[in-house]
Amino acid sequence: MSEKIKTLLEALPYIKRFAGSTFVIKYGGAAMEEESLKREFAKDIVLLKYVGINPVIVHGGGPKINKLLADLKIPANFVDGLRVTDEKTLEVVEMVLSGSINKEIVKNINDMGGKAIGLSGKDGRLLVAKRVKGKDIGLVGEIVEVDISIIKDINRHGYIPVIAPIADGVDGKSYNINADNAAGSIAKALSAEKLVLLTDVEGVLDKENNLISSLKKSEIDTLIKNKTVSGGMIPKVSCCLDALQGGVQETHIIDGRIPHAILLEVFTDSGIGTQITGGT
Ligand code: ADP
Ligand code: MG
Repeated sequence: MSEKIKTLLEALPYIKRFAGSTFVIKYGGAAMEEESLKREFAKDIVLLKYVGINPVIVHGGGPKINKLLADLKIPANFVDGLRVTDEKTLEVVEMVLSGSINKEIVKNINDMGGKAIGLSGKDGRLLVAKRVKGKDIGLVGEIVEVDISIIKDINRHGYIPVIAPIADGVDGKSYNINADNAAGSIAKALSAEKLVLLTDVEGVLDKENNLISSLKKSEIDTLIKNKTVSGGMIPKVSCCLDALQGGVQETHIIDGRIPHAILLEVFTDSGIGTQITGGT
């Protein structure tokens, strides 16, 4: 049998299993920066849609936000992987995320033959947040409510939702939400089959920088305690655990620098990256 036929047949059980299901995909890093990776990502998303999966994209935008902040001479600071966000920073975050980045992703998907719709967490009051407690990091929110009706409508009409992680605050302000956390909450609310987080590392790495292909809660607690997992990896592993507890079937942290990382994860037997699994 030719390799091409083998590959297609390997995908068959996954296509069958996932038709009609919903995947929430956190998009960011190199896959959102490099021209060829951007096109490949958009193609992957369109392919998912055409085999009957409902992809829901939640995007970050760190590097572009940092660049504009630097141009405007506003300092960028992070605490435990979360951006410290004052009023000025929030203005820039919202402008870049739900303005230029969101529309660029929409255009890329449309160019590849999909029909994407861009929105932020404010649209249809999809995401409602309150100020994160215990850390003095300004207008960074934690999600308290998700109204997925707008997503369901968009999916039903054959469109692909592309979501910027800005939320409406219970206090009337706007809040910046870490994109991993937003993706996790949306996945939970949708009872998604999969939550996939694309990033610029192979997955969760151990102290010797080797990839850990599977992790459960107790192992993650240890890795955070002994500081093997730190910074931006903390919201990723936490939101995966939270999503699993909330009924999401599978969660994965994968390397967005690999061309077609999503197709490799979804449609091949070996998979890639780190799978965070349920149970303790
Ligand atoms: P993203 O833009 O994808 O959210 P982040 O920078 O927020 O990326 O988070 C990923 C980063 O987390 C990695 O680039 C790495 O610097 C850091 N990190 C901390 N601990 C680990 C770990 N154990 N394995 C992999 N990456 C880790
Ligand atoms: Mg991050």
